[in-house]
Amino acid sequence: MKFYPKQSACPHCKTIYRYNDLSKLKFKKEAECYHCRKAIHISKKSLLILLAEMLVICVILNVVLTGAMGIVNFWIVYVINMIVVLAAVFILPLYIEINKADKKK
Ligand SMILES: [Zn+2]
Repeated sequence: MKFYPKQSACPHCKTIYRYNDLSKLKFKKEAECYHCRKAIHISKKSLLILLAEMLVICVILNVVLTGAMGIVNFWIVYVINMIVVLAAVFILPLYIEINKADKKK
C-alpha cells in the first residue's frame, strides 16, 4: 500500500522534487526534468486519493460539528468545510506523481 503525500523524484536522475517544483508542474501533463532535461510524465491519478481523503474528512467534521457539538449554523459549517477544501488545494502538488514519459507517438 502506498502512502500519500509522498516525495516525488525524477525517474531518470532521482532528483527530489520539492513542493515549489511540483506546484509548477501541476497543470502540465508532459514536461522535462529541470535537472537532467529528460521527458517526464505528470500523473495526477493520486489526486483521486486526495479527493477521497478530503471527502472523508468533511463527512467526519460535519458529523462531529452537527451531531456531537450541536452546531447547526450554516456559515460555521460552510467555513470549516472551505478550510478543508483550501487545505486540499494547498497540499495538492504533493500528490503529483512523476513517471517516465511514454515513448509512443
Ligand atoms: Zn531528472
